[in-house]
Amino acid sequence: MDVATVMLMLAVGSFLFGLLLVFNVNNRPGVPFWTLAKFSQAVGSLLLYQRVQTYDGLTVLAHVALALGCAYEAWAVRILTGHRVQSRLHLLTAAGIVAVILSTAPMALPYPRGVVFLIQSIFYFLPGAFLLRKHAGRSLMQIVLGVCYLIAASVFFIASVVCLVFPQYALGAARSPVFGVVPLVSFCIFMVSGYILLMLAKERSDLLVAEMRKSLQESQSQFQMVVETAIEGIVILDEDFRITFANEKMASSLGYTVEEMVGRDYQSFFPEDQRQLAAFQESKRRQGQDSVYECGLLGKDGQERWFLVSATAILDEQGKFVGSFAMLSDISERKAMELALEESNRRLTELSNTDSLTGIPNRRSFDAVLEREYSRLQRTRSKLSVIMLDLDHFKAYNDRYGHVSGDNCLRQVGAVLAECVGRSVDLAARYGGEEFACILPDTDLAGSVRVAERIKQRIEDLKIEHKDSPVSPYMTASFGVITVEYCRDLSPEDVVHLADQLLYKAKAAGRNRIVSAQWVDEGQAGTALI
Ligand code: GH3
Ligand code: MG
Ligand code: MG
Repeated sequence: MDVATVMLMLAVGSFLFGLLLVFNVNNRPGVPFWTLAKFSQAVGSLLLYQRVQTYDGLTVLAHVALALGCAYEAWAVRILTGHRVQSRLHLLTAAGIVAVILSTAPMALPYPRGVVFLIQSIFYFLPGAFLLRKHAGRSLMQIVLGVCYLIAASVFFIASVVCLVFPQYALGAARSPVFGVVPLVSFCIFMVSGYILLMLAKERSDLLVAEMRKSLQESQSQFQMVVETAIEGIVILDEDFRITFANEKMASSLGYTVEEMVGRDYQSFFPEDQRQLAAFQESKRRQGQDSVYECGLLGKDGQERWFLVSATAILDEQGKFVGSFAMLSDISERKAMELALEESNRRLTELSNTDSLTGIPNRRSFDAVLEREYSRLQRTRSKLSVIMLDLDHFKAYNDRYGHVSGDNCLRQVGAVLAECVGRSVDLAARYGGEEFACILPDTDLAGSVRVAERIKQRIEDLKIEHKDSPVSPYMTASFGVITVEYCRDLSPEDVVHLADQLLYKAKAAGRNRIVSAQWVDEGQAGTALI
C-alpha cells in the first residue's frame, strides 16, 4: 500500500468517525474536542493525499490541520481520563501550533515536515502519559492505548529527528520505508484509539450518569428530611388549590394525618369569616404574586388556629400558574396573647373613662365627648345641649346618713341618669362629687329641658330620705340647662361654665328646680343668653 492510499484511508476513516461522533455520542464528555480532532485530521489527510510529492501552501494547511487534530485528540483523552482542560490552555496551544508551523513553513524541506512530526510526537506522547498515569479504575484497555500512543510518539519523534538533524538523509529517503511507516502508524493509532476511546467515553459517561443519579438521590433525601423535620408547616397546592403535599408538622398542627390533608381543597380549612381572605390570596397567586399574610385555619376538632403564611406562586417555563407553595408558622399563642392584650387595653381605656363609684362615664369622658361634639357643630350647624345637675344639700345628707349612704345615693342617681339619657349619641357622666352632667347633641332647648325634667322626677321618685333638707323630705337636685350653637368665640369650657351659671341660679332660686337658657350668636349684634 502506498503512502497516498494510506492518507486517503485516513481521511475517509477520520471523516466517518467524526460523523459517528456528531450523530451518536456527541453528548458525552470530551467528545466535542474529539470530533474537532477527527475532522481536522480528515482535512489534513485529504490535503496530503493529493500532494505527497509536492510542498506548497495547501501542504502547510494540511500540516496545521493534522497537528491541531493531534492536539485536540490529546485534550479529548485528558477529559475522558477524568481531568479538566481549561479553555485558555487548548486555545493557547492551538495558537502556538499554528504560529510555529506558519513561521517554519518558508524554510526548505525537510525542516517544516520535521517540525510537524515533532509537534505530532508531543501530542501523541501526552495522551499516552494521561492514560498510563496511575489512578483508580485504570483499565487494561487504557494501558494498551497508552502504550500505542507512546509508540506513535516515538515513531514521529524519530522521523522529526531524521528531518531536523539529518536533512540530507531525509531528503534522499523521502520515499524510504522509514517515512512510509509514519502514515501507517497514524492509521494504526487511528484504528486502535477509535475503538478504545469509544469504550472509554461510554464508561466515563456511565460513570457521570451514576454520579448524577447518586447526587440527585442524596439531594432528594436531604430535601425530604428538611421538609419532614421542618419546624414550619409546608403545603404544596396544585392549580386548583388542592393540597398535593403537606408535611408532618402542617398536618399535626391541625390535628390531621398527612394522608387526610392531601387531596383536600385548601379553602375548606378557612373558617367562614375568612373565606374572602382566602379568595383574595388565591387571586394573587393566580397572577403569579407572592405574599405574606396571617390567617386562621380550622383544625380537625373545629378549633381555629392562627398561622403566619408565606406563600409563593409556582409558574411553569412559560410563566403559566401551575400551583403554589406555602410555609406556615403557627402563631396561635402569639395571637391569643395579642387578643388578651387588646382586651386588657380596651378594659383599661374603659376604666380610665369610667367613674368607679357609679359605673357611668367620668369627667375625662365628658370633656372628650364635649370637645368632639362641639367641633362637630361647626360642620352640622346644629344645636347642642348640656345639662349640669347637683344634688341639693348633699353635705348635710352625708353628715346625717354617713358616707356609705352618700355613696349609695350617688350610685342610684348615676343609674337614673344612664336610664334617662338613652340615645347612643348622648352622654351622662359624673362630673365630680355630687355633680352630674349630660351632653345631648342635636337637641334644642325644649328637648333638653324635657330630659332634665325626667331626670329630676326620677330622682324624686327614688325617695331617698333626706330629713335635713329644707327643700324636700327626699333627695332632690338642681339643674342648669344650656343649649348652644357653634360660635367662634365660645369654647367647650365656656359651655360648661354657662351651664354651671344656670345651675347656680337654680340653687339661688331655692333648689330642686331647672333653670335653662339658650346661647344665641347674633353676629354683629353680639351674643345673648336668653
Ligand atoms: P348645695 O345644695 O348648695 O349643693 O349644697 P351641698 O351640700 O350639696 O354642696 P357642697 O358643695 O357644700 O357639698 C358637697 C358634698 O358632697 C361634700 C362632700 O362631702 C360630698 N361628696 C362629694 N363627693 C362625694 C362622694 O364621692 N361620696 C360621698 N359620700 N360624698 C361626696
Ligand atoms: Mg356641689
Ligand atoms: Mg350639692
